Amino acid sequence: MLGLMQDWPLLCHKIIDYAAAQHGSREIVSRSVEGPITRTTYAEIHMRSKKVAQALEADGFGLGDRVATLGWNTARHMEAWYGIMGVGGVYHTLNPRLFPEQIAWIMNHAEDKAIFTDLSFVPIVEAIADKVPSLRKIIVLTDDAHMPKESKLDLVSYESWIQGYDGDFAWKEFDENTACGMCYTSGTTGDPKGVLYSHRSNVLHALISAQPDALGMSSNETIMPVVPMFHANAWGIAHSAPMVGAKIVNPGGQMDGASIYELLDTEKVTFTAAVPTVWLMLLGYLEETGKMLPHLKRVVIGGSACPRAMTEKFQDVYGVDVVHAWGMTEMSPLGSLGSIKPVYQSLTGSEKLDLQEKQGYAPFGVEMKITDDENVEHPWDSKTFGRLKVRGPAVADAYYGGAGAEQFDDEKWFDTGDVAHINEHGYMQITDRAKDVIKSGGEWISTIDLENLAVGHPDIQEAAVIGIVHPKWDERPLLICICKEGKTPSKEEILAFMDGKIAKWWMPDDVAFVNEIPHTATGKIQKTELRKQFAEYVLPTA
Ligand code: AMP
Repeated sequence: MLGLMQDWPLLCHKIIDYAAAQHGSREIVSRSVEGPITRTTYAEIHMRSKKVAQALEADGFGLGDRVATLGWNTARHMEAWYGIMGVGGVYHTLNPRLFPEQIAWIMNHAEDKAIFTDLSFVPIVEAIADKVPSLRKIIVLTDDAHMPKESKLDLVSYESWIQGYDGDFAWKEFDENTACGMCYTSGTTGDPKGVLYSHRSNVLHALISAQPDALGMSSNETIMPVVPMFHANAWGIAHSAPMVGAKIVNPGGQMDGASIYELLDTEKVTFTAAVPTVWLMLLGYLEETGKMLPHLKRVVIGGSACPRAMTEKFQDVYGVDVVHAWGMTEMSPLGSLGSIKPVYQSLTGSEKLDLQEKQGYAPFGVEMKITDDENVEHPWDSKTFGRLKVRGPAVADAYYGGAGAEQFDDEKWFDTGDVAHINEHGYMQITDRAKDVIKSGGEWISTIDLENLAVGHPDIQEAAVIGIVHPKWDERPLLICICKEGKTPSKEEILAFMDGKIAKWWMPDDVAFVNEIPHTATGKIQKTELRKQFAEYVLPTA
């Protein structure tokens, strides 16, 4: 027997319809690529995204067409997304931090037909356009006055392109499982892989992530997604913020401490989200200037492990709650969040920090388990670690084009490639990427635990741990550090600081000091590159 309720397809453009109807005057503030701070509203974004839809349709783009976007978080970028989705197209976010050849490879794999690009990325598009034969329209997210004086390409400004339309457009209707968004991930080995979101998965992810114990979204919040829209949908915030009518503050391309602080302060931001590197810059700026964060209530930190010292500083010095989160492009992306369950509400001080070092627990809509290599499930005892597997309505079922099929099993469990343990109350802790974990004498050593501990030393700015070949133990840990400006701690001081806080056999065999640690385009430490740099390294214990 079927229920007698309405079949109301979960389509993303219904989110912007809702925002315009119920929260039409709520502001979206953006640091524009041209420079000035711009202000618009959900009502305006709604109307202008319909103009985008009209212009796309007039140019012959529609259902299933992949339309790339190469842009920072701005109101125009949001309008482009909703316009693309509203004609049944697929927004395809490109990460400008990748090499132009990688961007071209990804665009060719996706067969992008059009691209919206920020003014600042026109040189990238100029470098690759002739290598992407499917591309037939280039729209620059600016107005005529700011367009490049000359270009070898046929460019049109966004404002002149939508100018002739009136916004009187009925969104297209189709099944909720229709594709609406795309993002390539290079998190795993081999070529980048395309994750193809559906309207249904994005709407469900927004509903799931907005919950009080997840991101805790509300119309009363002012949200600054520092995490870019090209990094897994800005962790879904471009969908969940309009779904609740929160004010959005878009940082554009300026993520240095001073620029982020300026917007946090002038726009009275209450909630923000980004990777640890961004917060390192902000905390550095606050320390230098003595400024405080009187408006900010909550910061969500994920993308890589949030160091304990960072959580402590935000909470104890600035009075800002930290929510440590874990996720993946393949999960839309949120997989777990570290909000505090009743059983832990009485924790304070270092016990609370111990809990917050974990990546949190899965919200409704994410199933989680850990297994050994033979797929035998491990207990949730907070120490047995194994491969972390997930499934749910906003988790990928396959990669675009069928690559990486071995990561998905018959029961729809997706092998994340992360290694983790889970405690009795469901709190999960990532101990490594499967390919980074150090295997010493048949046992595993978590590089993330060692890195977190090392950055707790007052003189250390950033730390990375890799396994170095060892004649007796197979691999032993090498700690690689960048020191804070003007600080020169000795290797012995760092090791003494770590001693007693971890098992003896986890202690790094050596410490190397460097000026730079390589990062991927999404801000993660590039361990493959570090392993290459230290390929010839001989440990003193070898
Ligand atoms: P991406 O798809 O680029 O967002 O990368 C996903 C990967 O980032 C995950 O599989 C993890 O390895 C890593 N990651 C994300 N969040 C965290 C976190 N809070 N702690 C440790 N690793 C994380």
